[in-house]
Amino acid sequence: MNVKNCKRCGKIFNYLVGPQICPQCREALENKFQEVKAYILEHKDTANITTVAEECNVDVNQIKQWVREERLAFGEQSVLGIECEVCGTMIKTGRFCEKCKNDITRGLIDAAGLNKKAEPEKKASHREAARMRFLDSSNRG
Ligand SMILES: [Zn+2]
Ligand SMILES: [Zn+2]
Repeated sequence: MNVKNCKRCGKIFNYLVGPQICPQCREALENKFQEVKAYILEHKDTANITTVAEECNVDVNQIKQWVREERLAFGEQSVLGIECEVCGTMIKTGRFCEKCKNDITRGLIDAAGLNKKAEPEKKASHREAARMRFLDSSNRG
C-alpha cells in the first residue's frame, strides 16, 4: 500500500496514480471543473479568467492548468483566452499558438528551454561592440 498526504487537504490516503490528492478532493475538483466549464459556456462573451475564478471560487492557476491540459477550451468567438507560452498571443486552449507550435515542430523553438530568455540579443550587441572596437583600431594611421 502506498499511503500519502493529500496535497489539498493534508489527509492521508491510499495513493494510486495521477495528482497527489485524495479521492474526496479529486471529486470536489472534478465538480469544480464541470462548474467552471458550464460557467464559461454560459458567459463566454463577457467573462474573463479572473471573473470565472471569482464566480466559481477557483484559483486562476487551476483554470489555466485545465486549459493547458486542453480539458477546457474557449470558443472561437469567445473573448476568453490564455497566453501562448512563447509569444503571449491569446489562444483558446493548450500551451502554444499555431505559429509557435509549428516553430517547435520544426525545431526553431526549443520548448524545453523556454525559460532562458533574450539570450541571442545579448550576444548580438556584444558582437556589435567588438566590431566597433575593431573599426576604431583599423582607422588609426
Ligand atoms: Zn484531500
Ligand atoms: Zn505563440
